[in-house]
Amino acid sequence: MFATRSFHIGETVMTGVIDRELDRNHSHASQVSAQRFVLHGGLVTKVNHSCDPNCGIRLNAGGAHDYVARTPIAAGQEITFDYAMRNYTVEHFAAHCLCGSRHCRDRITGWKDLPAHRKAEYHGFVAPYLTDIDNQRAPAMRPPRPGLRPGEGR
Ligand SMILES: [Zn+2]
Repeated sequence: MFATRSFHIGETVMTGVIDRELDRNHSHASQVSAQRFVLHGGLVTKVNHSCDPNCGIRLNAGGAHDYVARTPIAAGQEITFDYAMRNYTVEHFAAHCLCGSRHCRDRITGWKDLPAHRKAEYHGFVAPYLTDIDNQRAPAMRPPRPGLRPGEGR
C-alpha cells in the first residue's frame, strides 16, 4: 500500500472499517478492545508490518482502526504500521521479519513483547486498550509477599 499524496504527522492516512467479529486472536485478527477481535475490511488489510512504521493506530467512532501518520509521509512512500500497535499478543508469525528497518526486532511480536523504550516511542499511536491491559497486569508483576516459601501463596 503506497501513499498517493503526502501526509503530515497526526493526519489520518486510512480509515478502517470492521468486516466481521472473530471469536479469537489469529494471524489476520485485529484486536479492537481488551477482549474483542475482528477482521477489518477494505484497504487497511493490505498494509504491511514494519518495526519502524510511518503510521500508528487510532480507534475511530465505528470501533475500527484508522491509520494515522506518525512520521511525515511523502507521495509514493509505502504505508506501514506495527502489528504490536493493535494486538497485545502476536505469537503466530514463525518467520523472521523482513521489514529491513533500523529498529527491526527480527520477530513480529505483540505489544506485550515490546521493550519499554519502544512502547514510549509509540506513545499516542497505539490502541488505548493495550496500555490499559499493561496497567491491569502491573500488580501481578510485584514480587511475592515476604514470608512465603516456594510453592505457597497461590
Ligand atoms: Zn522488522
